[in-house]
Amino acid sequence: MGWAARPPTEAPIPDRISILSDVAEIVSRSHDLQETLANVTDLVAKRLDADVCSIYLIDTDPEMLTLMSTIGLDPGAVSRVRLRVGEGLVGLVAKEREPIALTHARDHSNFRYFPETGEERYESLLAAPMIMQNATIGVLVIQTADPRVFEQSDIELMQTCAQLLAPVVVNAQLLALMSISETRRAEITSALTSTSGRFPDVESPEDRTEQNVELSGIATSRGVAIGPVYRVDDPVDLEHVEYFPRESLAEEREDLLKALADTRSEIEEAREASRARFGPEFAAVFHTQIQILEDKGFVDNIDEAINRKKNALLALRSVLDTYRETFERIEDEYFRERGADIIDIGHRIMEKLLGVRSPVAPMQPGSVVVVDQVLAGLFARLEMDQVAAIVSEHGGSTSHGAIFARTLEIPAVTGVTGIMSEAKQGESCIVDGATGRVYLQPDEALVNYYRDAQREYEIAIEHLDALRDRPAETRDGTPVTLSANVGLLNDLRLADQHGAEGIGLFRTELLALAHRGFPSEEEQDQLYRRVVEQMAPRPVTIRTLDLGGDKGLPNVGMPDEENPQLGLRSIRLTLENRRAFRAQLRAILRASAVGPVKLLLPMISSIEELRETKALLENVRSRFQEEGQSFDPDMPVGIMIEVPATAISADIFAAESDFFSIGTNDLTQYTLAVDRGNERVAHLYDGLHPAVLSLIDLSIKAASRAGIPISVCGEMASNPLAIPILVGLGIGELSVVPAAVPFAKEIVRALELRDVARDARRALAAKSAREVQEIAASRLLGSGLLDHPDIGAWLRNVVDEASGFS
Ligand code: PEP
Ligand code: MG
Repeated sequence: MGWAARPPTEAPIPDRISILSDVAEIVSRSHDLQETLANVTDLVAKRLDADVCSIYLIDTDPEMLTLMSTIGLDPGAVSRVRLRVGEGLVGLVAKEREPIALTHARDHSNFRYFPETGEERYESLLAAPMIMQNATIGVLVIQTADPRVFEQSDIELMQTCAQLLAPVVVNAQLLALMSISETRRAEITSALTSTSGRFPDVESPEDRTEQNVELSGIATSRGVAIGPVYRVDDPVDLEHVEYFPRESLAEEREDLLKALADTRSEIEEAREASRARFGPEFAAVFHTQIQILEDKGFVDNIDEAINRKKNALLALRSVLDTYRETFERIEDEYFRERGADIIDIGHRIMEKLLGVRSPVAPMQPGSVVVVDQVLAGLFARLEMDQVAAIVSEHGGSTSHGAIFARTLEIPAVTGVTGIMSEAKQGESCIVDGATGRVYLQPDEALVNYYRDAQREYEIAIEHLDALRDRPAETRDGTPVTLSANVGLLNDLRLADQHGAEGIGLFRTELLALAHRGFPSEEEQDQLYRRVVEQMAPRPVTIRTLDLGGDKGLPNVGMPDEENPQLGLRSIRLTLENRRAFRAQLRAILRASAVGPVKLLLPMISSIEELRETKALLENVRSRFQEEGQSFDPDMPVGIMIEVPATAISADIFAAESDFFSIGTNDLTQYTLAVDRGNERVAHLYDGLHPAVLSLIDLSIKAASRAGIPISVCGEMASNPLAIPILVGLGIGELSVVPAAVPFAKEIVRALELRDVARDARRALAAKSAREVQEIAASRLLGSGLLDHPDIGAWLRNVVDEASGFS
């Protein structure tokens, strides 16, 4: 046989990025699983110069793998070759969930030869597991006839390809699952036919003639907007819609198919808009939805239902009910999540369907989005280019949705009780993000007043941006570094525009949230590298994944927790997901080769967490040294101080950290026992509480004893009342949303260190947050800032509210 010993050869160096983007392209355009698998095997075989590329999947029996696609082996073996998990080399990879790379495959003790495949002539083998939510779902394999030494980069490339493929496989399997529920579907169908085709109206807010209806909430993101209300209601309730079917089946079918097509193009447009506005990493969230709409089973089910029902809405409803029923019975959380995607798609189709008869106005430019709660996903769902402001019924000002609004410079007011019942679709609305006031149906005088305010605000920003090169230092010349908090590539443009001196906090979890799972090393490497290159020589502080709490990640099997903010979140979660954590550390370390990078660890609460992470990092470093991969050996490793225990024991942490960054959003939440996202307790949430200040003070003193830098990156750093106190306590760096950089700089430049140091001492001895606010308000009042041409009016408001002075 042709496999007798030949000297091992080096494989040609593949263009890794282009292979990955081609696999991603195939995956994102997947219509049919078999076709996708065939395209991927073909591509991988060609581009890795392999003689064989095969994909084995676990199907109905979780212990068995089946050959599903191959280039190079006997095509007749597809679907026929089955092996147990643990059996042969492929089975071993599935069992161990680790890749395997062998120059002489048959020397391995687990080697087994499957004669049906005709694989006897292949010498070398590289196989990577396809993993979803900690379970193997298949294996991607290449084989070569000539002996080959596989590089670490080949192994990583195969792993990434396998990971890109995994969600498509799982979604397709899930959709296939639906076809087995015929009987159940028939039962539900007959139950539904007995209900009438006419439903009561969707509830809509009462007609109101009154003008200037004033509501108020929490001032979450500054700026003024005047525009029509765009309600984001819960999806249309299938039980409560009015629907009159058309006369003929043909017309009903035509409407339904049009609704399907329109939904698809709408999602595709949203994907493109998202890509343009937020960068490609955010567009991934739409892939699953498009895949569902293209799924033959889903479309066939709908088609078959319309034949039976002769009513498009009832047909859709019966299919959705069947899907919902099936998903509710599935224990696995990942599958339940996919169920939610299908239901969401169904609702979108229905909205389109209803739009065929009674079109719902599309979102107009400059709309004020009114929603129950601002969740991160909202930013992926809406045409954000048309959004002028966001108002929500629930939520506080430091929930993550609120932070995204601020980062994107969209005025926002949260926790506006009554807005969902008051606001009518399309009616005029004013949002004042600085005071938290919202007006519905404003009269002309109020509109004119706010138009002036809006113009002033815009002029102020332009003016301040023009002053961006002035140094950020106090009157007596003490420098205070002003950096930006970012989460998406597009935020970098804003950071530049507003003159940030670096990135003080890069929230990497947005990439994971967009992907609904841990991103691969490759994806992260590409993103971090771009961020670091774009900012160089300014430093970029990359924070490791901070998931959990209010940033749930559906695909990683996070169980529901009674107290998620006190549960398995942040560093605790990453330490439990070693593989994902290692991938992130590798990507960050790789980025450190192209510019100054600092590594930041969130929510550290015990010294063991820091040590474990550093040991993992050390491990990655030595691997890099062996591999000849370049990186910054002196990359600083710092921790976030977000847990009171860490602040209290700050000396212990300072001895083993290169820097501290105080996350006041969480530190306040944990010190005061106030949920940062709950508007009902928002009045109790205040970072200026003397207890929080004491913990900040302890951290600063410990940092200074150890000689390490300390910054604040929570939202408090952009609160005009907090800035004098933080600078007075000795904070040397404030990291704020990009738009706040110029404001913060103007405040810093008006302060005298001696004065604010005295204020800070008084604040530490104060009895309440209110007292601290008053101390800070008098400082702003005495600084002359209230006469500042750009920020004076706004500060006057802040001071008035804090102190009752005028
Ligand atoms: C914080 O808690 O202050 C912080 C900056 O982290 P995040 O808001 O992302 O939780
Ligand atoms: Mg935090």
